[in-house]
Amino acid sequence: MKLPFKFKNIHHCEAVVLTCIDFRFWRETLEYAEKELGIKNFDFPSLPGAAKALNDCKSDQEIAMKCISVPRDLHQAKKLVLVNHQDCGAYGGSQVFNGDSEAEQKFHEEELKKAKTKILAKYPDLQIILVYVKLADNGENIEFLEIN
Ligand SMILES: [Zn+2]
Repeated sequence: MKLPFKFKNIHHCEAVVLTCIDFRFWRETLEYAEKELGIKNFDFPSLPGAAKALNDCKSDQEIAMKCISVPRDLHQAKKLVLVNHQDCGAYGGSQVFNGDSEAEQKFHEEELKKAKTKILAKYPDLQIILVYVKLADNGENIEFLEIN
């Protein structure tokens, strides 16, 4: 199979979108980044738990930190979109919260903010967008919420 290479001689991208590996969410996360956030080109690393992977890092040499530093330093990405989601297995899933989806959301918001603080300490000029993906309409839909 041969496909056209859209980025011949281009080495920069707008953003890095770090999301969880979970198969149930990543395709829609791509769609969200492109359609809702209007980001046309971005690095798209995925790690279990997204923010969790960053928060668990003890050094800049760990893979999760490299998922930010390579896009930032090599591809000159100006934006980081960090996406956590409901019922994330890396955190033990929704069952940890005994079905309290509000408590679960609050927990993930704190995780996202913690990761933001950590990344900003290293890259103060990086624009960071925090996103929580929740199950909506009795699990029929998934909803992307920007966290401030
Ligand atoms: Zn997950």
